[in-house]
Amino acid sequence: MSAYKITPLHLGTITRPKKNFLHGYTGSEVEDFPIIVYHLDGEHKILVDTGGCAVDSEYGQRFQPYRRPKDQELDAALASIGVRPEQIEYVIFTHLHWDHASCNELFPNARFICQRRELASLYEPDNPSSKGGYIKDYVKQFSYELVDGDLQLFDGISVVLTPGHTIGSQSVIVDTDDGLTIISGDLITLQESWYMDPPRSSALYYSEEALTMMYESIDKLRKISTRLLPGHDWHVFEPGMGLR
Ligand SMILES: [Zn+2]
Repeated sequence: MSAYKITPLHLGTITRPKKNFLHGYTGSEVEDFPIIVYHLDGEHKILVDTGGCAVDSEYGQRFQPYRRPKDQELDAALASIGVRPEQIEYVIFTHLHWDHASCNELFPNARFICQRRELASLYEPDNPSSKGGYIKDYVKQFSYELVDGDLQLFDGISVVLTPGHTIGSQSVIVDTDDGLTIISGDLITLQESWYMDPPRSSALYYSEEALTMMYESIDKLRKISTRLLPGHDWHVFEPGMGLR
């Protein structure tokens, strides 16, 4: 197996109620949460997601509170780890929401990979999954290689369909020197929810049926690994990426 090194990149900060990010949580705190892109370095140079749009764009205004200083723009964050955007060979999207898929134009040499169901939903205006957090006109400009369900993409890199946050959300399974590590997108946004017994999903699901799908997706991931990197958690920037 080919092992990859995972590096989380901090790409700006959103301010949101914590209860959005932890299903069943009833506290009223409003907190800062990071937007995160994961860089995977191994046989291939891969990004998982591309982060949010420009803060001062029309859409950046729509998704306030959101801020992103210059050094947290994706090209600057990549430069800080010695990577140029043109070196990226693949971008694997957990899903196509605005905070995960808005810097795609930086990667002229990359092939973009997402679930067929995720992209298709953007052409279905009545689909409850496609309401909300998408910048549809923007993400539709790009070409994607479409995956149906679970697939090993390369030696050491697989995707598994884990719907519920969106209808076509997927998780990325990365072989590392410390074992298989899951990048879950917004199925799990906080590490603490993964470590609860039993684990809890984020509260960002698009219907009651989707909530059931969230927990089915969690069950699927638990059979794969205990190591999980979530969608919006500061702990991933700590040594060991907050993994227990
Ligand atoms: Zn999302």
